Amino acid sequence: MLYPENLTVNNQGHLCIAGQDTVSLAREFGTPLYVLNEDKVRQNCRGYKTAIDTYYGGNGLALYASKALCTMYTARIAASEGLGADVVSGGEIYTLKKAGFPMEKVFFHGNNKTPDEIQLALDCGVGHIVVDNVYELDTLNKIAASKGMVQKILFRIKPGIDAHTHDFVRTGQIDSKFGVALENGEAFEIHKYAVTLENICVDGVHCHIGSQIFDVDPFKEAAKVMMNFISDLRDKLGIDPHILNLGGGFGIKYVESDDPLAPYEYVKAAIDVVKEVATERNMPLPYLVFEPGRSIVAEAGITLYTVGCVKDIENVRTYVSVDGGMTDNPRYIMYGAKYSACIANKANAENVKEVTIAGKCCESGDLIQENVKLPLTEVGDTLAVLATGAYNYSMSSNYNRIPRPAMVAVKENGEKKVIIKRETYEDIIKNDLL
Ligand SMILES: *Cc1c(COP(=O)(O)O)cnc(C)c1O
Repeated sequence: MLYPENLTVNNQGHLCIAGQDTVSLAREFGTPLYVLNEDKVRQNCRGYKTAIDTYYGGNGLALYASKALCTMYTARIAASEGLGADVVSGGEIYTLKKAGFPMEKVFFHGNNKTPDEIQLALDCGVGHIVVDNVYELDTLNKIAASKGMVQKILFRIKPGIDAHTHDFVRTGQIDSKFGVALENGEAFEIHKYAVTLENICVDGVHCHIGSQIFDVDPFKEAAKVMMNFISDLRDKLGIDPHILNLGGGFGIKYVESDDPLAPYEYVKAAIDVVKEVATERNMPLPYLVFEPGRSIVAEAGITLYTVGCVKDIENVRTYVSVDGGMTDNPRYIMYGAKYSACIANKANAENVKEVTIAGKCCESGDLIQENVKLPLTEVGDTLAVLATGAYNYSMSSNYNRIPRPAMVAVKENGEKKVIIKRETYEDIIKNDLL
């Protein structure tokens, strides 16, 4: 098996992440276990920052889309690398605030922010609210007025672009619950209304066209549409939306056939178009914002499991069951998401058998992956699922009252830190009152 560059195999034939033996990590911290390569996360953060510095003179900001993996520690990593962050809920705002994140560099998204969440955002000093709709705009204006403040906002725009990706994670077209549409004039009208509101300051526009996108074309198209819209707003309403936030969605490699570009290529492609349109329409260059989530943390993370029962059903298939499942990784059951896996204690062994990796939940669909080739697998083996850093822990649950795994951050210098402790049965019942 060909491993991604942050994974290696040591002379015992064990899979290593950031140079650390995963079999030892599994033994020391128990399984299931999320392991995060901190060096890799930092390197990915820097990739975006460098791209904006190199191609755009630093006139912009990369935000860590914290929903991909929202923990106090990952927020601190992003902050220390100079990134901002985007959040989509009160819980994420609270996490970042508690982590000491610079809240003026936070953008608050969501299609149905509650009044309480808006209150919290303003109280915490969130820099920008990305307003989704007119109801939210009115609510925000009132809350800001009650606090005697003017809140900076961007509007979430549906640019009418169809990024070729999975239906559930495609958000740029008119039939989406997020934002206001360009093509029917809704986006223009909401800006026209917003300029009449005293406690609102329109700072820019935002779009996010989907997730796990490999192609640069949808990003270029989005940049073009949004730049033209900014120019229209300047000409027709005399306002200056100087921030252009183009969202995230840059693809990563889950399986051999995935072929993403380096992050800087997406950033550069969008920047080229932004510059072109700015010249064409004789307008200043906007402050550019990107919101990578998956591409910052996904490949930096792996999940380690212990293999239990191996069920060979003749002429049907072989189920390899592990001690986790949809509770720590619901992406297969939700989207049929693809993953690569290996046996961490036999990392150089030949893949000889096609198996289905099953979880331990009471649900037939609770699979991690079907038709994966693995070496001969036995009870007690350590199974590693790769590229689980994004949307695994953050989407995890306590279904079947299964405690969530711990997460360990590891570094090439030998450091290893438990950044999230394993839940206990006591944690599971702690909110049961009667
Ligand atoms: C989910 C999301 C992102 C991050 O998407 P990735 O695919 O993880 O890069 C960025 N911006 C918004 C508004 C999002 O909803």
